[in-house]
Amino acid sequence: MLFTTPTKWSLPPKRLRLFGLFMLLSLFSPTVLAIDEVRHTVSFPENKEQVFLVRSEFPVSSTVTELIMPDWTPGSYLIRDHAANINRISATTEDGTGLTLQKTSKDRWQVDTSTAGTLIVDYEVFTPVLNVSTSWASRAFSLINGASVFLYTTQTRDLRQSVEFAHDQARGEPFTAMLPAPGGGFQAADYDQLVDDPVAIARAPVYRFTNNAQDYNLVNVGENRFWDGNQAAQDVEKVVAETQSFWGSNPLQKPYWFLNFIVEAKGGLEHDHSTVMMTGRRHMRDRKAYIKWLGLVAHEFFHVWNVRNMRPLELEHYDYQNEQYTSQLWIAEGLTSYYDNLIMSRAGLITPKEYLELLAQDIYRLETTPGRLLRPVTEASVDAWIRHYKPNANTHNSTISYYTKGAVIGFVLDSYLRKSSKGRHTLDDVMRKMYELYSNKAYSADAFEKVVIDVGGAGAGDFLQPLLTTTVEPDVDAALEFYGLELNRGAIMITGEPDEEPLLSDIGVHWNDNKPGLVVKTVVGGSAGETAGLISGDEILAIGDERLTRKNIDKVMTSFSPGDQVSLLVSRRGKITSLDITLDVAIPDRYEILLKSGFTKRDIARLKRLLGQDLNQ
Ligand SMILES: [Zn+2]
Repeated sequence: MLFTTPTKWSLPPKRLRLFGLFMLLSLFSPTVLAIDEVRHTVSFPENKEQVFLVRSEFPVSSTVTELIMPDWTPGSYLIRDHAANINRISATTEDGTGLTLQKTSKDRWQVDTSTAGTLIVDYEVFTPVLNVSTSWASRAFSLINGASVFLYTTQTRDLRQSVEFAHDQARGEPFTAMLPAPGGGFQAADYDQLVDDPVAIARAPVYRFTNNAQDYNLVNVGENRFWDGNQAAQDVEKVVAETQSFWGSNPLQKPYWFLNFIVEAKGGLEHDHSTVMMTGRRHMRDRKAYIKWLGLVAHEFFHVWNVRNMRPLELEHYDYQNEQYTSQLWIAEGLTSYYDNLIMSRAGLITPKEYLELLAQDIYRLETTPGRLLRPVTEASVDAWIRHYKPNANTHNSTISYYTKGAVIGFVLDSYLRKSSKGRHTLDDVMRKMYELYSNKAYSADAFEKVVIDVGGAGAGDFLQPLLTTTVEPDVDAALEFYGLELNRGAIMITGEPDEEPLLSDIGVHWNDNKPGLVVKTVVGGSAGETAGLISGDEILAIGDERLTRKNIDKVMTSFSPGDQVSLLVSRRGKITSLDITLDVAIPDRYEILLKSGFTKRDIARLKRLLGQDLNQ
């Protein structure tokens, strides 16, 4: 893709001379000269990586114009201060006259535009990290999340935005849900849409499919011999078909894009007509990792309805410069997490056994997080900005993930609704009713509970309310029993499987996986380690007279019993100390969901209704 050809000027025919004279005179009026859209051009410097060069042209409507860079990316609730990555910035009028930019706050610049019809701003954006919420510029592949690359002004935020990409073919082509502009490049209806349509620039295969007359594209950036693109596309199509049939209405108004980056990174971010996902190069060769990816696909696509079209009131209009607090992320993220696994099962992509393993994992994460007893899920949602997205040594002890607890609340509420209505109502009904009521207008904090009462009666509301506003534990055992299932909370000892949750030892700490030694990341609240006086950053060298290493810890710990009093040799900020500890009973590394004895045909039928498939499959 290259710059479009500049407009060629030619003399008008004689008969239009008078009209031409009129037009020429009009050219001196800025209102005629001004463009009626914001035009962005993105290019790359030849001599360095991780940098975008951007030229943005703004029509001017006031004597002073304020340029603003968003501080966060919608969908990822963290102040990222994107303006910190602007290396240099300059401004001119349309005839090339230089204008002075004055930095007025961390994310704003003021320009005197009294003499300009169009404000032209050139800036250089550095891309420090590769993740789904920010941008990345490299020769191999690039990602543009508009909030971290494009400036806006309050006067032009609602104006049409066009984007052109000016780079050599070697970098590949742009892939985006943005629609092509008539004159080349792409265009978005306004700045919000520009931000909501990320762009991948790469040489990458695209897999296209149509489902119920709706077009979809899967772009595999970084596809390699370990990644079977056709198989992945077939599986994505199954997720799409299942999710579309779940909601029963299609809000998509243009082709949808799965922008999949196979680049040894992780995460996903939802948009109206696309998602950015990141995964590992070999994840299609590893069943568990592949299920994780399929779950990500299901999660992000479910978001098209839950959080993009049906949104908490506080997030209805984005304020790019400030935190937007909502207590409802347990619906937006938690219930989406409940359904991503169910969609996979109902689409036949995972077995019932695999589904139950994923459910057991969620319950395990919830019940082994001490912070669940300190913070209700609605408060954890409000605190997303300072806790979930800013984890530190205390996060595990001070809060609970609204993803995990929301998913478990989804499970117990669904089970309650099915049981109390004798199978007539399910959480699916609640979700669809919510969508019916709130797909076109945002929902307030009490909306979900009202719909739950509407569908499941007053008892359902009484059941849900304390789960949201207090730290009362969801009764997962009762919920499992409805399906003839039970939870085994303690059968399996530490195995330290890679890619699983951090290893929990009977010392009661989480290890820092980025360090070669046994360095404490978090001391679990209420554990033996806390009582012994361990702190985050301690390196444990030995227990008793045994040298302790990452390699031998599982073996060494089996030679001690819970209740044993031993000493720990600890290196703390370069000083060696000894701490006495009374060992805990080890927390198992995972839970298991089992069929209860006396499992009946009725239970099989109930599970089939939930999972969309027979148990023996
Ligand atoms: Zn999500």
